[in-house]
Amino acid sequence: MTTLAQAYGRDRFGLSFELFPPKTDAGVENLWFHVDRLVQYKPSYITCTYGAGGSTQDRTLEVVAHVRSKFELPVATHLTCVGNTADQLRAYLHRALDLEIDNVVALRGDPPKGETSFRSVEGGFSHANELVKFIRDEFHHMGIAVAGYPETHQEAVSAEADLTNLKRKVDAGADIVITQLFYDNADFFAFRDKYQAAGLDVPLVPGLLPVTNGAQIQRISSLCGAKLPPDFLAALSEHEDGSEGQFEVGVEFATKQAAELVAAGVPGIHFYVLNKSEATERVLRDVQLPR
Ligand code: FAD
Repeated sequence: MTTLAQAYGRDRFGLSFELFPPKTDAGVENLWFHVDRLVQYKPSYITCTYGAGGSTQDRTLEVVAHVRSKFELPVATHLTCVGNTADQLRAYLHRALDLEIDNVVALRGDPPKGETSFRSVEGGFSHANELVKFIRDEFHHMGIAVAGYPETHQEAVSAEADLTNLKRKVDAGADIVITQLFYDNADFFAFRDKYQAAGLDVPLVPGLLPVTNGAQIQRISSLCGAKLPPDFLAALSEHEDGSEGQFEVGVEFATKQAAELVAAGVPGIHFYVLNKSEATERVLRDVQLPR
């Protein structure tokens, strides 16, 4: 199986799709309908997010295990420090390995609903770099991806401190960095310059989420604070919320964004597909990926 580092290697262009564990049977059906379509684009990886609730965490493993066995694709489970002791994290990683899931997107995680700041549990970890070290020490062969923030993580005291933290995660053993979603490529390019200047040399993979309706905008800003360019917002607002017109505006924007990133030599693209395929498919139909 290709490792994370190989998938985004110097001579390969990586393509990954991020899913989330559905909560209902209808959601499960919807997920597989869309994954069936997305796999035609031959992703290097499919990943699934890890939530704060216990039952959804088992579903994360179910989703990636199913992708792994049905489509014979490399997969990665996301994993966070939220509410987990080191023993619980170890047990989860053993379950993952038993299911032949050998890559992890290692994160600190956001505070659970209703809480405003992250609190580590006794016997757990406070920052993602500690989780990366733990995985590297105890699960040597697992591939590890970590999160990077072109617009700086919301809790970071400064962009410099955030980059120092990212370096901690890479030094602890991360194979690749996947970025938080962003809508202004200039932010990504400035971040990439600083990343390279800081001596970080593992693949830096931009994360894209095509916005295809107005309701998503509110969610995106409250979730991670990503800026949306005023021109783009204005173009979206010319159409009714959730309309075909907004979908077209969003797809056109994401297509241009992806094409510019590819032309600027990124090692791959990670799409936050949100268990849907339409927008990502349209982008991938129109952008020539170097693969
Ligand atoms: P960290 O790297 O620990 O950083 C968190 C903050 O602490 C930053 O401000 C950093 O600068 C600061 N910091 C880090 N180390 C130190 C230190 N030693 N001293 C002082 N300050 C420090 N969330 C989920 O709940 N589930 C998911 O599946 C999930 N998937 C994601 C996938 C991607 C690709 C991305 C980009 C994000 C994802 N998230 C997910 C969101 C993520 O959990 C949040 O952004 C979270 O707030 C930070 O996680 P992190 O791993 O970047 O944390």
